[in-house]
Amino acid sequence: MIIINGLGVSEGIAMGKLSLREIIRPDISKKYIDDIDAEINRYFSAREQTYKKLDEMYENALKQCGEREAELFQVHKMMIEDDDYQESILNLIKAEHQNAEHAVKVTSSKFFDMFLQMDDDYMKSRAEDVRAISRMLVDSLVGGDLDGMKDIKPGSIVFANDISPGEISKFKQRGVAGLLASSGSKNSHASILARVMGIPTIVGVGDGIKQEFFGKNVILDGSGGEIYIEPDEETHKSFIIKIEALNNQNIELEKYRGKESITKSGKKIDVYANMNNPSELSEILTSDAEGIGLFRTEFLYLGRDSYPSEEEQFQIYKNIGMNMNGKKVIVRTLDIGSDKQEKYMNFPKEENPALGYRGIRVCLNNPEIFKTQLRAIYRASQYGNFSIMFPMIISVDEIREIKNLVLDVKEELSEKGIKFNENVPLGVMIETPAAAILSDDLAEEVQFFSIGTNDLTQYTLALDRQNSMVGDKFNSSSEAVLRFIEIIVKNAHAKNIPVGICGEMASDKTITEQLLNLGVDELSVSPKSVLAIRKNVILSNAK
Ligand code: PEP
Ligand code: MG
Repeated sequence: MIIINGLGVSEGIAMGKLSLREIIRPDISKKYIDDIDAEINRYFSAREQTYKKLDEMYENALKQCGEREAELFQVHKMMIEDDDYQESILNLIKAEHQNAEHAVKVTSSKFFDMFLQMDDDYMKSRAEDVRAISRMLVDSLVGGDLDGMKDIKPGSIVFANDISPGEISKFKQRGVAGLLASSGSKNSHASILARVMGIPTIVGVGDGIKQEFFGKNVILDGSGGEIYIEPDEETHKSFIIKIEALNNQNIELEKYRGKESITKSGKKIDVYANMNNPSELSEILTSDAEGIGLFRTEFLYLGRDSYPSEEEQFQIYKNIGMNMNGKKVIVRTLDIGSDKQEKYMNFPKEENPALGYRGIRVCLNNPEIFKTQLRAIYRASQYGNFSIMFPMIISVDEIREIKNLVLDVKEELSEKGIKFNENVPLGVMIETPAAAILSDDLAEEVQFFSIGTNDLTQYTLALDRQNSMVGDKFNSSSEAVLRFIEIIVKNAHAKNIPVGICGEMASDKTITEQLLNLGVDELSVSPKSVLAIRKNVILSNAK
């Protein structure tokens, strides 16, 4: 038995075979082909395979997100059948004896440029779609595995060099039992998502995982941060006992299902859940959360090739609002940038992305992207109990600018005769020291605060939340952050507005009492932590 240590970022014990997530970059260089007919057949069978994959993706998206979201794959199916696209590929094979993958690559860039030059926004956004289908075609032609997921079996424990936030739900869909990464930190979005999805995860194992370990049985202890390669019988038995104890704890917590979260002194605390992807809706509904305290909408923009349309977003928000059946849904507007970005967003490379172009800065610089989202939320507002909050605020001017854009959106909708809730509460995320210091002024502008302790800790302590080298110092309960929370709560309550915490700190069972003593009104936690945090609230002696 070999024991390797890392940083446990998502609790739970996983047992299974260790497999490697390896991204294979296919060779698509230009080659001269003698047998043109065979090459054309190769192309057609790859096209057939891609078409089938798109059909599967359509069905999956339809089940998980609904008709609108799934429509994208129908568009992709139509594009792959497009005569001009196909003719271009076949011509290159026939006239120039090019290998099919190279012909697809050349055609892809030709069509990409052509779409990009079009005036119409809808046609422009098709450029990324051409790229996406071409990638899939190349994948089928050369047997590459751009996601590195092909050989991953359900129930396995997967090792990857590093894991991006967008990949976590793919691992979940694949049914992996646990995740291991050589780098990473506790407060990165990938780790947060692993916790939300309940995948036991250890990061920062460095080069501890050797080639010869793959295919071996391992135990991953996400709480202790230890990986046991080929565990001996005694270790195996002790983990079976631990798993039983964890199951018993969960059974005990079921007592708190359906109970109101009220402290002994009679203060009602809202225990909400955080949502990243709409696919987490069923988990949130079964978690018994009293609402959604943070919907990280940027995940609607990740893992795809173009910005989601207003209609797509509207359908998603509407579906969530209706399913939550009157319970509060706090939608956080687009917080892209830093570790959450995609190629199509065309963000420049930055020296310090966490201090750069992200969150509200991107939205105020691109009012059309921002207003598209606001229109979708307002249109959905008649189907649910929505609130909207804004990330990365550093000044009162920003919130005033936002409120003007909100007014524009409301006017546009009224002019078109579209119904919406006039009184959607607006809130600010307090996650920068600037917002904390200005919280007295900001409290005059909005109806609620939600403290983003992940970023508030990062910016207060000047510690990169992504950097595993300073991970042991990254502590949201450090005195400086706690004092900020105290100031924010006082300033909010002086203006009679409520304060929630939606950073990871809210899910920390050891600190609930302290947060309640500071006067916090709402805790938004990972769905798996709802009952444990409610238990803490009910047993709390806070005033
Ligand atoms: C936070 O910063 O605490 C927060 C909730 O936002 P995110 O983790 O998405 O940056
Ligand atoms: Mg944040």
